[in-house]
Amino acid sequence: MENAFDPIEKAPTHHPPSELLIDYAAGSASEAEALMIAIHLDACLSCRRAADAALAIGGALLDDIAPAFLPPSLFQRTLRAIDAAAEPSAPQLKQPVPAFTANWPAPLRAHLAEKPTGSWRRLPAGFRALRIPVKDESARLWIMKAPGGRGPLLHSHAADEWTVVLEGGFTDETGTYAAGDFAYMAPGDSHRMVAEPGEGCVCLLLTREHPRYLTWLGKLLAPLLRL
Ligand SMILES: [Zn+2]
Repeated sequence: MENAFDPIEKAPTHHPPSELLIDYAAGSASEAEALMIAIHLDACLSCRRAADAALAIGGALLDDIAPAFLPPSLFQRTLRAIDAAAEPSAPQLKQPVPAFTANWPAPLRAHLAEKPTGSWRRLPAGFRALRIPVKDESARLWIMKAPGGRGPLLHSHAADEWTVVLEGGFTDETGTYAAGDFAYMAPGDSHRMVAEPGEGCVCLLLTREHPRYLTWLGKLLAPLLRL
C-alpha cells in the first residue's frame, strides 16, 4: 500500500512556522502542540533537520550563558526537581487502535494507543468529528472529516489554529494542502477551506481560546533558521 507519509515520495509543501519547531525541539510545546508537530515531522525531512539544528544552536547558546550563583536552598530544590523529572512515569495501559486509523501517521496512532477516544460525532452537511484527548486544557484537538467539495464557512480566529492533513486534502486562499501538510492560522486570520473533490479531507485540528505566545528561544532562533 502506498505510504502517504513517505518523506521522499510526498514531501509536504506547507510547514509550521520555525518558531513552533524551535519550541517543540526545546520541549516548550504542550502535549497537543507536540503531537501536531510530531505528525508533520514524521512526513517532513526538512523540518526534522531544522528542529535538530534548533536544538544544537539552542544548546550552544545555553552553554555560553555565564553560570549564575544559586543560594544553597534553591540549589537543593533545583536538584530535587531534576530528580523528580527523571523518575519514570507509571506505564499506561495500551489500547488497541481502531482499524480506521490504519493510514494515519505513527505519532497519532501511538497517542491513540495511550488515550482512546470516544466515538465519531455526526455534524451537519456530512461532517464528522472525533475528539482527541490531551492533558492540556487550554487547547482542543479534533479529527475532522469533511466530504469532498465541502468545507466550513468562511471563519476567522481569535486565537491561532493549527491543522495537519491526515488523508485527502483541502484548498483555501493560501494554497492546496495534502497529507502531512501543516496549516497555521494566526489570530485574526480568516479563511475558507474546501475539501478535495471526491476524496474529501481528514485532518487533525488544534483550536483554543487564547493565542499561543512563543518562547524567547523560539523568537531568538527563528531568524537564524530562516536562512
Ligand atoms: Zn516541514
